[in-house]
Amino acid sequence: MKVPEHIAFSYLLAQFGVQQAYGPAGTALTILAGCLPDLDGLTVVAGWSFYRRYHRIVGHGLPVTLLGPALLAALGSCLLHLGAFLPLWLWLQVALLGHLLTDFCFYRWPLQLLWPVSTRGWGLGLVAWNDLLPTATLYAAAAMALASPAVAPMAAAAGLGGLFTYLAWRAWRPRPRSSWSAWLAGNWARQSAPVWRWLTGDFIT
Ligand SMILES: [Zn+2]
Repeated sequence: MKVPEHIAFSYLLAQFGVQQAYGPAGTALTILAGCLPDLDGLTVVAGWSFYRRYHRIVGHGLPVTLLGPALLAALGSCLLHLGAFLPLWLWLQVALLGHLLTDFCFYRWPLQLLWPVSTRGWGLGLVAWNDLLPTATLYAAAAMALASPAVAPMAAAAGLGGLFTYLAWRAWRPRPRSSWSAWLAGNWARQSAPVWRWLTGDFIT
């Protein structure tokens, strides 16, 4: 997924317990953990070829997966005094694994999950780069959770449930069958102004 979608996904995940147990600081850490692998996207500042060589590899490999959430949990537990290390670490680890799981399901852009031990790439490519439905689902659920904290866990369940239902649908029916579903699944981006693609987190087409 793209970064704004990872932010929305992690924010929704935090509504299942982190927000209630640790408050906004816990939610912020969950969002950080959920975006951590995409730090390798910052390689874009070193140039396009550098980005193509390292994005979806360095941040999505074993060192960040195994150590990143633990370091963030240590920060939350020891420096921010949010509470015991272990439950916080578990939530942050789930947020990071959620990032890897969604990246694995989306796009034809393999992840090197075992880097640097192995350079084998994995990915299902269920969703096209500009598919609007996952973005709209996550944004709508996050907006609902933000606007109405009392229903935030329900909004999160609906948003994440909707996202995974859509992924299952795409696995079953890989190609859209009508022109409007093809438009939603990516064709809208062909003739749209860049600002609309930026809103979905697409800064590279
Ligand atoms: Zn990623």
